[in-house]
Amino acid sequence: MVKQDTTALLASYRAADRVKQVIEKIHQRTSRPWSLMEICGGQTHAIMQYGLDQLLPGEIELVHGPGCPVCVTSLALIDQALWIAQQPDVIFTSFGDMLRVPGSHGDLFSVRAGGAQVRVVYSPMDAVKIAATNPDKQVVFFGIGFETTAPANAMAVLQAEKMVLQNFSILPAIVLVPPAMHAILSSPNNRIQGFLAAGHVCAVMGYWQYPPIAEQYQTPIVVTGFEPLDLVNGIYRTIDMLESGRVAVENAYPRVVTYEGNQVAQKIIDQVFEPVDRNWRGIGTIPESGFDLRETYQFYDAAHRFGSTDIDTAESEVCIAGLVLQGIKKPFECPAFGTACTPLNPLGAPMVSSEGACAAYYTYKRG
Ligand code: SF4
Repeated sequence: MVKQDTTALLASYRAADRVKQVIEKIHQRTSRPWSLMEICGGQTHAIMQYGLDQLLPGEIELVHGPGCPVCVTSLALIDQALWIAQQPDVIFTSFGDMLRVPGSHGDLFSVRAGGAQVRVVYSPMDAVKIAATNPDKQVVFFGIGFETTAPANAMAVLQAEKMVLQNFSILPAIVLVPPAMHAILSSPNNRIQGFLAAGHVCAVMGYWQYPPIAEQYQTPIVVTGFEPLDLVNGIYRTIDMLESGRVAVENAYPRVVTYEGNQVAQKIIDQVFEPVDRNWRGIGTIPESGFDLRETYQFYDAAHRFGSTDIDTAESEVCIAGLVLQGIKKPFECPAFGTACTPLNPLGAPMVSSEGACAAYYTYKRG
């Protein structure tokens, strides 16, 4: 019964006639060129998958944002993960996407092929369970993600503390959306005039952080979901504000997102994590754009537990992922796109990840 209800609900947000009506409204409302950025790679993939970009007026350019945590995890952090995974008696756990992301000298797959214990898990809590059943091993979870994954990471740390596990730690790589928006909008290269904010991030964090950003940069922001109807509604509301010269933050995803967000989750995040400056791959360091464990929980910090490493990082010389992630270049403007770099042989993270812009362009044959 629940499955049927969910299927019917999803179908209503994918109904072609409803999507078409909103597309027509967008055509009627658009009088000049506008550049909008969808923050999240999941939104980029949905836009490509349903061909929404091809239905919009030619004046509207969708620029793909840095909302792919796999893509923006810094090379130094990936190299550190590879190094930790190769230490004796370590079981290194990670979401599957990370296994093929190239570091300076290989990826987690190649490290596993070399004999290291690298396991794919579906949540940080799976890693806690592995730690509980393998007391003679050090179990490390690669904690990548945006604010959406922060509560599960925090819960894993609290659970490990409750179970008095001495052999569990996380390598925190969580990144935060609002500081990235600041970085994009304050860049001298910025050409973004309106934002589609990521609905799942706002489901956790609310959207109370966004009005000051909209105000400071005079840029409308619309909280947007992931189904075709959600996406075209978000685009319509952004265009409507731009055309009428209005700047505000609107919520086009009210069935999931509230202004305050999930305050229980925010409290748990705040208990375990604190904001820190973080290096974004291809973009650089953005102030207060990541979460690290608070000093109280430093015992569970893998970087602290395994010590610092002295690894020479070396980015691919052809990959222009940084420019793609900032919306300055499209994936097909990369000379390696579809030739030297494909999902089977990725040179950069945006071609690996299920949320990467290069993978979306390749999969849905854009450019
Ligand atoms: S196509 Fe490949 S090499 Fe080019 S920017 Fe994308 S990931 Fe990097």
